[in-house]
Amino acid sequence: MTVSGASARDQEWANRLAIEGGTPVRTTPLPWELPGANWIGEEERELVDRVVRARSPFRFYGPDPQHMVETLEKEWCETFGHRHALGVSSGTAALSIAMWALGVGPGDEVFVPGYLWVSCVSAVVRSGAIPRLVDIDETFCIDPDDLRRKIGPHSRAVLCVHMSGAPGRIAEIAEICRENGLGLIEDCAQAAGASQNGRAVGRFGDIGIFSFQLNKNITSGDGGMIVCEDDDIFKRIVALHDLGYARNEAGRLDTSDENCQLWGIGARMSELSGAMVLAQMRKLPLITGAMNSAKWRIRNALADIPGLGFRTILDPSGDTSPFMITTFADEATCKRFVEAVRAEGITGQPGSLTCITMREWGLHWYSNIPSLVHKRSNSRDGMPWTHPANAFAEAYDYSFGALPACDDLHTRSALLAVASSLTDADVDDIVTAFRKVARVVLA
Ligand SMILES: *Cc1c(COP(=O)(O)O)cnc(C)c1O
Repeated sequence: MTVSGASARDQEWANRLAIEGGTPVRTTPLPWELPGANWIGEEERELVDRVVRARSPFRFYGPDPQHMVETLEKEWCETFGHRHALGVSSGTAALSIAMWALGVGPGDEVFVPGYLWVSCVSAVVRSGAIPRLVDIDETFCIDPDDLRRKIGPHSRAVLCVHMSGAPGRIAEIAEICRENGLGLIEDCAQAAGASQNGRAVGRFGDIGIFSFQLNKNITSGDGGMIVCEDDDIFKRIVALHDLGYARNEAGRLDTSDENCQLWGIGARMSELSGAMVLAQMRKLPLITGAMNSAKWRIRNALADIPGLGFRTILDPSGDTSPFMITTFADEATCKRFVEAVRAEGITGQPGSLTCITMREWGLHWYSNIPSLVHKRSNSRDGMPWTHPANAFAEAYDYSFGALPACDDLHTRSALLAVASSLTDADVDDIVTAFRKVARVVLA
């Protein structure tokens, strides 16, 4: 009697949630989520060192150029099947260059999803065009049906964002763009190495962009890449990322081509960044492989829990998996679940955002971007909102409520960062904590 009574009590203590005074599943923080940063090592050091020893950090000329950026671009094309690739200084700069390369400007609207990053909107606004919100579906990317409904006389391009490591219904979106004569830019900043049915992201649209900022799948601290199939568009991209002109064989500016006299943004990639990204891209399959394996082990181990939903991933083998997105019946359950899981020790290093509700995910949601909601401008004249050619967009509203499906998912979904260096024990702890919390919170 006493023995079984004690063990029942032990069991009760083990089952009691940490948030209610029970023992947490773990007490050490999970590793840093920063996927590429976890893998920085001798290879990066060796290539960066070569640039330093050659005293040649500029890609176009110098004492003894090591051609790091050029080699990176070549290997990027060979690996993913792109015709052209160009290293740039950031993903944000890449997006502006993409807008200008397609000639987007006042009088145009560019479709952007409601789940995105602030850079996607700022690139449209800086071009003088108007961002037009389009809803998302359970892939957490553009809903093709809402896109079809919203196409009008001012629609010029679609900025499709492959959020949180994987594309959504990109083949269908590309088809809609072709049928309607819309440009298609793929923002692959969060999805380097991702694919769908064997086709790499960035190969579905006219232009693809990548980022190598610290949080991305591979990193040089800052950096970016632009890919493109079309020779003429690529010529514009090259001039725009530089000083508005082409360069000759010696790496000097060539102003003679009348068809290539533009306004550049000064977003070249340095050889130091090129060296780091080159070493990182050679590890990309290992990095995304580690995240994919960990995330899908977690997802599969939680698949049978009623009330716990997951983002739709159309092709799991092409998912780079830096994040696992879960969905709940309502906002209160979502919040309670995440707080309880965090109390079980499923948290990251101090200052990181490892386990959060989507409500806490800042500038990834359109309605959290004050400069968009309030239609702010960098200049005194209120551009682009006040431009006469943009009068068609006067009634466009960017506050919460503009996108029903997006707002719904925003309020009742959560995000777990899947580190590229999770151990089997970390994976087991995550599964144990989720199951423990589900038994109480989702009962
Ligand atoms: C990070 C990110 C960018 C911007 O890249 P930076 O290199 O930080 O300028 C653009 N779009 C998305 C979706 C991103 O996640």
